[in-house]
Amino acid sequence: MSLTTDPNDPRLTRGVDDKPVPQNDTYLVLSDEERAKGFVRPVRQSYVHTKCGVETKMSLAIAETYARNPKFYGATYCVACCMHLPVSEFVWSGTNEAVGS
Ligand SMILES: [Zn+2]
Repeated sequence: MSLTTDPNDPRLTRGVDDKPVPQNDTYLVLSDEERAKGFVRPVRQSYVHTKCGVETKMSLAIAETYARNPKFYGATYCVACCMHLPVSEFVWSGTNEAVGS
């Protein structure tokens, strides 16, 4: 898995899956410079899919992107369902706070 800060990177795929798929090769994140402007939420590196109860962990760059801009991602991956699903189906681990809110 690799990360890019270029929204036009041709390796990026987006959206929600309707059948199991591997994680994407590449995920979009905010640049170091943009993340350095400050976080509006805590940096949290795991979330739970409310439909299956399984926790998925993410890299620090993605966690910091969520913390800088909670609305940055519309969909996120569940390691148990093996699908990208709407962020509204997930809560931050140990909380009932919806991802993306
Ligand atoms: Zn799941």
